[in-house]
Amino acid sequence: MIVVMKRTATPEAVQQMARTVEEMGLKAHVIVGTERTVIAAVGDKRNGAKELLESYDDVEQVVPILAPYKVASLETKPEPTTIRTRGLVVGGGNIGVIAGPCSVESEEQILLAAEQVKAAGATGLRGGAFKPRTSPYAFQGMKEAGLKLLALAREKTGLAIVTEVMTPQHVELVAKYTDVLQIGARNMQNYHLLQAVGETRLPVLLKRGPSATIEEFLLAAEYILDQGNQQVMLCERGIRTFETHTRFTLPLATVAYLQERTHLPIVVDPSHGTGIASLVPSMCLAAVACGCDGLIIEVHPEPKKAMSDGAQSLTPAVFADTMARCRLVAAAVGKTIG
Ligand code: PEP
Ligand code: MN
Repeated sequence: MIVVMKRTATPEAVQQMARTVEEMGLKAHVIVGTERTVIAAVGDKRNGAKELLESYDDVEQVVPILAPYKVASLETKPEPTTIRTRGLVVGGGNIGVIAGPCSVESEEQILLAAEQVKAAGATGLRGGAFKPRTSPYAFQGMKEAGLKLLALAREKTGLAIVTEVMTPQHVELVAKYTDVLQIGARNMQNYHLLQAVGETRLPVLLKRGPSATIEEFLLAAEYILDQGNQQVMLCERGIRTFETHTRFTLPLATVAYLQERTHLPIVVDPSHGTGIASLVPSMCLAAVACGCDGLIIEVHPEPKKAMSDGAQSLTPAVFADTMARCRLVAAAVGKTIG
């Protein structure tokens, strides 16, 4: 249920109502909007709860939330959520650009990549230190040493760091170094991990599982939101279909569809979505045109020498050109990018 507070309700009255909701055995999420403050009351509601809550003076009305994803739903919060960390702004009319290599490989590589993507206009730096690889024999990432290099790159460039955390035990460690915690596609339904990042107050980039439905995707986001972390970005990174020409199939309709259902910002990953570097620029333009709030793009100083995902990584020159073209499309749809 959504408990819509009266405009006249004081912050103390809102807190008191949240306690009342919790005393009824429901979880209370206070959402302060520009128009109204509402409390999403989530859980198994008992008979008469709606009428009881409506009897309080500070309550305007109580309405059921129909979507199974309660806190992520537009019914709960009609205004879009914007995520800001350092210079990275995702949503609110700006398309946040996160770029960098698939994996952190060395100090030289990540510092160079950081400078190159910054020069082209990115405000976020990606780079995996813990890598989820299909084969146990493939490069698994530099782990904490990689996190330290990301922090160094941030110190030198001011870019916001986005890096993956693969297990609940590592959340504290990764959170020490990063600005955004990335949940990889393979972990979208790792519920303990979702809860663990939900307990932090860092923004989370949640990637869609390659075989997950949109409802499963939103319910995964709900696990994070339910822990009180409201800073979740949804990332469409391609799904598995019968098609084998591209690494995954990138369904851009997800962007428009999600915007009709959730206030959370939507990021598109054309690198994993196609797996082919030559297709990435066009898909970046298309993602901007269809209304995405952010892009995450793999860029490597020398893609041919990359230790992972070189085939889908852009050279810094192609990335710079792509950014210039994306700026034109962003302007055409009334947005800024970077
Ligand atoms: C990545 O971002 O490098 C990555 C492993 O992505 P995904 O989880 O979408 O496969
Ligand atoms: Mn990758």
